[in-house]
Amino acid sequence: MGFRLANVDGRAVLVDDDHCYDVHDLSGGELGPDPLTALAAGVKLHELAATIEDAEPASKLADVVLGPPVPTPRHVFGVGLNYRSHAAETGSELPTVPMIFTKFPGCIVGPTADIVIASDTTDYEAELVVVIGSRTKDVAPEDAWAAVAGLTVGQDVSDRDLQFATKPAQFSLGKSHDTYGPIGPVVVSPDLVGDRDNLHVRCEISGEVRQDATTADLIFPVPELVSYLSSVLTLHPGDLIFTGTPAGVGRPQGKFLRAGDTVTTTIDGIGTLTNRCV
Ligand code: ZN
Repeated sequence: MGFRLANVDGRAVLVDDDHCYDVHDLSGGELGPDPLTALAAGVKLHELAATIEDAEPASKLADVVLGPPVPTPRHVFGVGLNYRSHAAETGSELPTVPMIFTKFPGCIVGPTADIVIASDTTDYEAELVVVIGSRTKDVAPEDAWAAVAGLTVGQDVSDRDLQFATKPAQFSLGKSHDTYGPIGPVVVSPDLVGDRDNLHVRCEISGEVRQDATTADLIFPVPELVSYLSSVLTLHPGDLIFTGTPAGVGRPQGKFLRAGDTVTTTIDGIGTLTNRCV
């Protein structure tokens, strides 16, 4: 039994098509209320999700504003150049090991939050985001999906001038302006997303399709990323891995985000982020 977990006012909720169910209340106080501790509950969260059919909803989805489903991750990793199509459009060679950078966790915001444009070279990157579910060190790729609580949608919003301000380039600050990390709307357990290794990723800017790809084209797929990172440091429940973006970002086309733009980021089987630029 899978789950869809969201964040309403800092509290973990399970969601179905129309309603939210408070995890703390539904579990008799055993799980939550914090979304991060709910995600770490593993099989107990799956068992709880099986009970919502008969439960009393806490609210209608249409009546609430969702926060980021993981509001306070300990680590937020990004992966550069992880689609062949994106490496090609940037004129870069294909990496032979994953190119890892960090987004500082303070940039994380919810699925409908405004993106506060901090520079005139601000770019969009639609991405599948992995949410770790358990403390994990030195996991083999074939066992790595077991360490994943779920998947969500992310925008790796990037200030290109700041990203490439130094030689050699250091991406982390350019990826970390306040509001430059929208995620959500829900964390979906991998058993509910369909084909977890072949997910359709799309990005529209004010209605114009800019990115349209599938995660089957990832150079380093999810299990390899989790395994590689866990060979370096211990991963913790709620850690996020932004897995990279496909072709179609703005920089090679000279099309940067401007106040008034709407960024719509969708992954089939997970959901949609709708973020206005201000
Ligand atoms: Zn990215």
